[in-house]
Amino acid sequence: MHSSSASRPGSPLAFPLSATVLTLMALFTFPVATVPLPAQPVLMGLFLLAVCLLNGLTAAILSMLLLAGSPLHSLTWVAAAYAFSAVMAVMQLLAFPGIFGPQPLVGGSSQAAAWVWAVWHAGFPLLLLAHVGQRLFGRHEAQSPASQMLPVLFSIACALLLGLIVLGGAGHLPVIMDGHHYGTMLRDPSGIAAVVLSVTALCAVVGATRLRDTFDRWLTLGQYAFTLDVVLALAGQARYSAGWYVSRAMSLLCAGALLMALLAHSFRLYRAAAQRALELQVEVVRDPLTGLLNRRGLLQLMQAELERAHRHARPLALLFIDMDHFKHINDTYGHPAGDLCLKNAALRLCAGANRHCDVIARYGGEEFVVLLPECDEDGARVVAERIRAAVEIAYDQGAVPCRMSVSIGLSTLPPGSARSADTLIDAADAALYDAKRSGRNRVAVAAAEHCTSGAA
Ligand code: GH3
Ligand code: MG
Ligand code: MG
Repeated sequence: MHSSSASRPGSPLAFPLSATVLTLMALFTFPVATVPLPAQPVLMGLFLLAVCLLNGLTAAILSMLLLAGSPLHSLTWVAAAYAFSAVMAVMQLLAFPGIFGPQPLVGGSSQAAAWVWAVWHAGFPLLLLAHVGQRLFGRHEAQSPASQMLPVLFSIACALLLGLIVLGGAGHLPVIMDGHHYGTMLRDPSGIAAVVLSVTALCAVVGATRLRDTFDRWLTLGQYAFTLDVVLALAGQARYSAGWYVSRAMSLLCAGALLMALLAHSFRLYRAAAQRALELQVEVVRDPLTGLLNRRGLLQLMQAELERAHRHARPLALLFIDMDHFKHINDTYGHPAGDLCLKNAALRLCAGANRHCDVIARYGGEEFVVLLPECDEDGARVVAERIRAAVEIAYDQGAVPCRMSVSIGLSTLPPGSARSADTLIDAADAALYDAKRSGRNRVAVAAAEHCTSGAA
């Protein structure tokens, strides 16, 4: 996995610690691998069920991520390998004697379960080698999600076909199981192939990935557990030996290692998406230059304020503010200076309308709106004048590189009256143009008929 969120390291100690535990387990087991332990075929059934579920879940999650268009295309063969394992675990469950009764459910011959194991433990590393091959030599252009599923479907078909051939024809295959003993596999091509392929796949995965990211490390750990599974199973030489039991545990760990990494990855993706959704909720109503609300945010809040003012028969005032000769500022001093003026004007608006319920927004370009809940016309005049004066002296205070001023149109909603947002804004806009016409850098109040026309 090569997306930035996917390559976040997680706990740096988890991988070396897990690898050390696996190594110690194998080292302690190896000298006593052939020691016979009580036969627990039902436990074997549970093991195989768990291995099937873990492998199947891993393959399913990887496939879903691939189908969802995640940049995981280099892991299609890994999904294929885990899908193969899941099917082979089911085959072994059906062929293993003692789980559903003294005789295996299918396969009849006592060879069947051993041959299923041999095919499984050759097929999984082969599919991982295909993954390494694709990673090193494959084409890396984007593929359609459906075509990325082809290796998975191919491996499931292979597993079903091979499993059925082995279950049906085990009687015709070379004998590798004598009762519960399979020591001959140590010299048989089936056992040798499983060891050689597992070790080769392990080396290839390490060599190709160089353990660069979290997935590389957990994939490697899974293959390391798989290799120890093969070695300990062969070293045990018989079912229900110490080596055989520990190899079952290794098989479970192989199935679980990547699944854990995938779950951690999904958790990180979910957390990043939730965080981004929160950020977007804020960004969508914010003006990036000034940090004020944008027009969308203003209209959302304004609707609520209009309803509240009407319901409680409270006054509401609106200031429509436009910077004077702003084009001239841009043309003379440049756009960066214009932006600085806009930011500074925004600060002065915030200082002028300083009650916590006041709403200050950049309406667009060099126009701002200030909504003053609980404020009648007289109060709004004071605020408007304060803002006008604060903007005017910005240059004298050295805050901006040129003189600037604003013209302000004021409209009010008399207590108890119902108005739409548009009516209030239009009335203030009309007053603003009166202020412009009368010479700019001043406050003008909307005529009463403007405020009352167009009631909602
Ligand atoms: P008036 O006094 O009549 O309002 O004149 P004016 O020049 O302010 O009005 P006009 O509508 O002609 O020009 C507005 C200018 O505001 C034009 C546009 O380039 C500038 N402007 C709009 N948004 C931004 C911005 O984000 N940054 C900068 N630097 N300038 C902007
Ligand atoms: Mg304007
Ligand atoms: Mg202007």
